[in-house]
Amino acid sequence: MHEYGLMEEVVKSLLAKLDEPGIVTEGAEMEVVLKVGALAVHSAAATRQAYEVLVKGTKLEKSRLTLIIEPLILTCSGCGFSGPLPEGAVDPHEQLPLAPCPQCGSISPVAGSRGVESIELVLD
Ligand SMILES: [Zn+2]
Repeated sequence: MHEYGLMEEVVKSLLAKLDEPGIVTEGAEMEVVLKVGALAVHSAAATRQAYEVLVKGTKLEKSRLTLIIEPLILTCSGCGFSGPLPEGAVDPHEQLPLAPCPQCGSISPVAGSRGVESIELVLD
């Protein structure tokens, strides 16, 4: 599963951060703000699910995940439309994803990030 591998890396780096000296997690509210590209994951639900499985029994078990998915951007050469597409509009496995333009319907290239944009750990 694609999300699982991605989240494995994310959780690993977060746990490494929590092991740094001076970080107190005892009794603290933890929020993880994760920003990923739309082509990095299939769905937000699967990403959350993977996170929940991976943090079980770790210091992150009680953390809250705020997931931000960067939208896909379609650029149409036919009518000049350029804008975001909804989640699931293209298959993230495609090397050069294409989708119909929401304005004129011509098949146009879609751009989006395939990786993790940022990981933020907020301790309260
Ligand atoms: Zn168009």
